[in-house]
Formats: sequence, structure tokens, C-alpha cells
Amino acid sequence: SKIDYQAPDGLLENRIILVTGAGDGIGRAAALAFARHGATVILLGRTIAKLEKVYDEIEAAGGPQPAIFPLNFEGATLKDYHDMAETLDKEFGRLDGLLHNAGLLGRITPFEQYNPELWEQVMQVNLNGPIWMTQALLPLLKHSADSSVIFTSSSVGRRGRAYWGAYAVSKFATEGFVEVLADELEHLGNIRVNSLNPGATRTQMRKTAYPGEDPSSLRTPEEIMPTYLWLMGPDSRGHNGEKFDAQPPRS
Ligand code: NDP
Repeated sequence: SKIDYQAPDGLLENRIILVTGAGDGIGRAAALAFARHGATVILLGRTIAKLEKVYDEIEAAGGPQPAIFPLNFEGATLKDYHDMAETLDKEFGRLDGLLHNAGLLGRITPFEQYNPELWEQVMQVNLNGPIWMTQALLPLLKHSADSSVIFTSSSVGRRGRAYWGAYAVSKFATEGFVEVLADELEHLGNIRVNSLNPGATRTQMRKTAYPGEDPSSLRTPEEIMPTYLWLMGPDSRGHNGEKFDAQPPRS
């Protein structure tokens, strides 16, 4: 299965791949894994110091020179996304992969107490920002011979759960958007758009959501990379508008 996928060393050679939220957690692990398999990775995130650390790790491991793109989905405007597309166009001329990974938990709280500003913020970072960024990057994705767009979902984006509020709603909407865009681009044949649920993973976000949980009971971001590599690389060609899981479901 994809969960046990063994990626060949040069899987992503000569591919230009953008990873959002690349400074920490799952995004960091994905950026490192993509670079280790030959990709030129564009590290996007809001905390530059974290992105610089990942940059240095990639260089130290002898990976292709990455690029850093600071961006905060909370304040970003359409112009920022278009400026970004222009910069990437000049530098690379195309985009072969886009991992939408940046995400905000918001608060686990009864809906009755949910703060509307926080709701907006979560929808901005998890849904609207990534959607308009994707729109701006479409011309670059079209220039690729084989490009993979991955949106990060969650189990609460497939079945709602009490207290998960805007986070769950943003992930449900993400799943919907994946279906719309995948169907729309199907005829082009060179861009696939899929959703990926990482499953419970040992990161800061998980710790915030489940403070009482023993982190050692969780898989690390590194351990869930096989599915990320499979879905980013050419072996997943032909899969479009589908939902994937990076881990077996927990009982
Ligand atoms: P982390 O909180 O560890 O990392 C999230 C990343 O997103 C960080 O790099 C963070 O940047 C970045 N980010 C947050 N807000 C913004 C913003 N406004 N603009 C730009 N970047 C931002 O989370 P995970 O690694 O756990 O989560 C990654 C993805 O996986 C998310 O989409 C999450 O919803 C999803 N997921 C995670 C699960 C888990 O168990 N961990 C389970 C299911 C889904 P910074 O470092 O600067 O804060």
C-alpha cells in the first residue's frame, strides 16, 4: 500500500515543489523528504528562522539548493500570491508539486463559545489563503509535465466531531474544493489534485489538541512520509480528486 511505499532515491529529481508550513511539524519533514529525493523545495511559512533552519538542514544533507518564501496566510492578499507566482515564474518557470500543509487549529471548544474572529482566522489560514494561492499558481502548475497538488485534510474533515469548530469545517471545505478543482483540471491530464489526511502525528498541533496524550504513542512526521512521497511523485499519476490517508486508521 501507499503507507509502505518505498520511494526510489531519485523519485523527485528535477521537480520544483512548494511546501507551505515548511518550518515545523509535518511540513518540515515533507520538505526534508522531498529534498532528499531530489526535489528543489520552496519553503513557505510565516516564521523565517524556522524556514532558515530547514534550509540549512537540506544544504547540510547535500540536497538541491532550496528557496525560502516567507508568507503569513493571515495577512496575505491576492497581490502577495500573484507577486509570489511572478517570482517563482522568473526563477523556475513552472511548479511540479504543491503541498498545502500549513494549518491552524484554532480552539477545541463548544460551538456556543466559539469566537467569530478566531473562526475567520482559521478559515483564512486553512482554506481561503491556500485557495487563492492555488489560483495564482495555476499557470505555473500548467507548465509542468506532471504536477501534484496535495491538500492536507484531517479525520474531522471527513466526519465531524464535537468541539472541533472551524478547523473541522475548513477541512470539510478543503475536501470539497479538491473535488471541484480536480474535476475542473481533469481534462488537462498533467495536474492531479488530491487530499491527504496525515492521521494522528507527533507535532505541536497534536499536542495542543490532545494535551493529555503520550506523544510517544504517536507516529512521527518522518514515519508518515511514504504516502507523501508516493502522492507527490510520478507513481501516483492518474489519481485525481481522491482522498488518501498517510496512516492506517486508529482503533
Ligand atoms: P504544526 O502546528 O506543527 O505546523 C503547522 C505549520 O503551519 C507550521 O509550520 C506553521 O508555521 C504553519 N502555519 C500556521 N499558521 C500559518 C500562517 N498563518 N501562515 C503560514 N504558515 C502558517 O502542525 P502539523 O505539522 O501537525 O500540521 C500540518 C498539517 O497537518 C495541518 O494542515 C494540520 O491541520 C494537518 N493535520 C495534522 C494532524 C496531526 O496529528 N499533527 C492530524 C490531521 C491533520 P509556524 O511554525 O511559524 O507556526
